[in-house]
Amino acid sequence: MHKDSKIYVAGHRGMVGSAICRKLQANGFNNIIARTSAELDLRNQQAVLDFFAAEKPDYVFLAAARVGGIHANNTYRADFLYDNLMIEANIIHAAYLQQVTKLMFLGSSCIYPKMAPQPLKEEYLLAGPLEPTNEPYAIAKIAGIKLCEAYRDQYGCNFISVMPTNLYGYNDNYDLNNSHVLPALIRKFHEAKENGAAEVVVWGTGSPKREFLFADDLADACLYLMEHYNERELVNIGTGEDISIRELALLVKEVTGFKGELVFDTTKPDGTPRKLMDVSKLHNTGYRHKIELHEGIALAYADFKEKHTAKAL
Ligand code: GDP
Repeated sequence: MHKDSKIYVAGHRGMVGSAICRKLQANGFNNIIARTSAELDLRNQQAVLDFFAAEKPDYVFLAAARVGGIHANNTYRADFLYDNLMIEANIIHAAYLQQVTKLMFLGSSCIYPKMAPQPLKEEYLLAGPLEPTNEPYAIAKIAGIKLCEAYRDQYGCNFISVMPTNLYGYNDNYDLNNSHVLPALIRKFHEAKENGAAEVVVWGTGSPKREFLFADDLADACLYLMEHYNERELVNIGTGEDISIRELALLVKEVTGFKGELVFDTTKPDGTPRKLMDVSKLHNTGYRHKIELHEGIALAYADFKEKHTAKAL
């Protein structure tokens, strides 16, 4: 990538896309193009084809997606499948037609089979059945990976796929019904503290384990791989370390300063028991994440307070 390469970041207002834009700008890339969903509906094929024909980007980061936590994935099953399939198919096909130099597709650790051995190696893709709560999203993301592979095989396109672990960071979604666990816990503990509540309800048994990566660390890895990685095989992006939801809740409790108790609501689903990434391939490039979980939760909590609390409004 040259400093004046035209770079399209799809999903630039989301947590991941905004982190990628910040990283690009910090590294001197200033020919970034972006469109809000109101300006360009990525599910609309003609609109996407027209946009690519007019702008002719050199590089594409495909970080646009309908995303959400376990409840949203399990409730809006049709939307998660349809919207993500359309977004990926439209962008990847348009990138092929306009001969973009390189495209990076961002997937998710939920593409791996529910009962896959841990840590999850890239080769476990399609080796077994998926976790039912997020199967529609996972199927869409697997289709995105396969599109990248197929356009490479048939047309020689340099399209690569990366699989981030669970992410958190600036510009996260704090809606309690639709968000992932970490932003949900930050909000719940904060509000419980503010309201002097005695307890915070944590979904499930607390025993599932998850790995968490700060979105700015993901952006570092994405930039590095966009510049240096040109292979067909996907690459996991994570920390290689995980913790139980119970331990996570205790960490958020400490960072927010809540003094009450945790209560586990076992009527809510646990989802996949564990999804720890094997990050050997990533680590072989010399990359390591920089922001550890405790520090990252404090940064995310500060961002939440700035943007989402009464004081901020
Ligand atoms: P997942 O990684 O696809 O399962 O998505 P989530 O980040 O939504 O959930 C991860 C785990 O955290 C699951 O076991 C949830 O049941 C659990 N969890 C505990 N409390 C919450 C909460 O308030 N919101 C969410 N989304 N998950 C929670």
